[in-house]
Amino acid sequence: MHRQFGSYSHHTRRTHQQDGPVHRGRALTNVNHHQYYAPNPGQKLHFQDLHMHLHNLSRHALQNKWVANKRSESTKINKSQNVKAKQLPELKVTKILLHLQREQKLKLAEERLEKEKEQTRLHEERERAVQHQNQVDVEQQNKLNLSEAEFVQHLSRYIMEVNLQRLHGYPTESAREEGTTEIYKHFDYLGARSSKLYNKHLDGEQFMEKQCIRCERTFHLTYSGEYISTETCTFHWGKLYDSKKGDNLKEYTCCAGGKDSAGCAHNAFHVWTGIEMGVNGPYDDFVYTQPRTDAQSTNVASKVYSLDCEMVFTGRGLEVARVTVVGWNDQLIYDHFVQPIGAVVDYNTRFSGITADDLNRKENKYLKSFREVQKDLLQLIKADTILIGHGLENDLRVLRMVHKRIVDTSYEFPHHLGFPYRCSLKSLSKKYLKRDIQVGDVGHSSMEDSIACMELMKWKVREFVKSQKNDGDV
Ligand SMILES: [Zn+2]
Ligand SMILES: [Zn+2]
Repeated sequence: MHRQFGSYSHHTRRTHQQDGPVHRGRALTNVNHHQYYAPNPGQKLHFQDLHMHLHNLSRHALQNKWVANKRSESTKINKSQNVKAKQLPELKVTKILLHLQREQKLKLAEERLEKEKEQTRLHEERERAVQHQNQVDVEQQNKLNLSEAEFVQHLSRYIMEVNLQRLHGYPTESAREEGTTEIYKHFDYLGARSSKLYNKHLDGEQFMEKQCIRCERTFHLTYSGEYISTETCTFHWGKLYDSKKGDNLKEYTCCAGGKDSAGCAHNAFHVWTGIEMGVNGPYDDFVYTQPRTDAQSTNVASKVYSLDCEMVFTGRGLEVARVTVVGWNDQLIYDHFVQPIGAVVDYNTRFSGITADDLNRKENKYLKSFREVQKDLLQLIKADTILIGHGLENDLRVLRMVHKRIVDTSYEFPHHLGFPYRCSLKSLSKKYLKRDIQVGDVGHSSMEDSIACMELMKWKVREFVKSQKNDGDV
């Protein structure tokens, strides 16, 4: 009898136990391939045989137990399989639930999308309404038949008085020395960095000591603006503002560095603005806009232009590198790059938008010399021309030009804290013209800025005309 233990049935096992092991000498193979011998029935057993028999019996019993365990394990497995089988419907339910959840999520996402679409639609509608209102405003203005001449007439109400111009840093005729020009720079109590001026003797030679407007270190220049010594300037190009972290902490807008943190930008030279606190000058190289000399001058109305300059740093301070003039209908009148007199030490591209190529004669055939541009502007801008600009004193200073008929948008749209605080042209443009300017990282555009100034004054005049009309209705 050759049996495989693994295939013993319950019945077989019981029979086997009753009958006892049989067929001595015949190999029984268990799963582990162990062989043992059992005595034949009726066989006389010697002690050793008996011992072997008992030993075999116990082994057999152990093996039977192993089989029993195996069986019970397999039963357990079967049972667990049955459980799994019973669980199948539950799995189905879970699957259905998951499916429903997914459906619900999809539905929610769709609803959200729908809501967003609706919001976009409403936003666009509002935008259209604003545009329409602007259109209506423009049409209204056209209905009023506001010509350039009439606009100029309205603007004359906003021309800055000369003493006010002086207070705001505009170049004006010197009262002390006839034929010369002075610039008064008010005391800067905004905590902004400002330069000091000392005249010192070095080996018998006069030179200027300046304080860098970026890092506050002192540096030395000749009077013609040549650097006596150079030192790398490390600075923050951003502004210090109140940190959102609270506790009166201040952070730089450029890199979120603290007030005393090391600068995040470098330049090979220290820089200054070209202007000091107090009275600057007297200068003898400023040009004055001239009265019109053409025959029809008495019959031709005054012009209005908006002007803006982009500037770069040289040893002489800020110098003009591009000048743009736009006309009454935002048409471009003049736009040229200008070769500064001093050697450029920083193009200030982040703010000026000016690059080295712009001021390279080989790369830019439209580049003009400073004197050429000054001459052009004197042809264009006459003494009776109204010039609009934002903080125009800086533009006139770098153009080394004196002009009296000034409309300054930084003065006409004052900061709520009053002078010397100023609203940026960017914020005014956003607030009144609903227009974003100076966006992106290519710096300002003198064209964009000068158009914004012109439009702001149109807005101002429009409001005035409207209020007059309303008063008339009452
Ligand atoms: Zn920084
Ligand atoms: Zn510096």
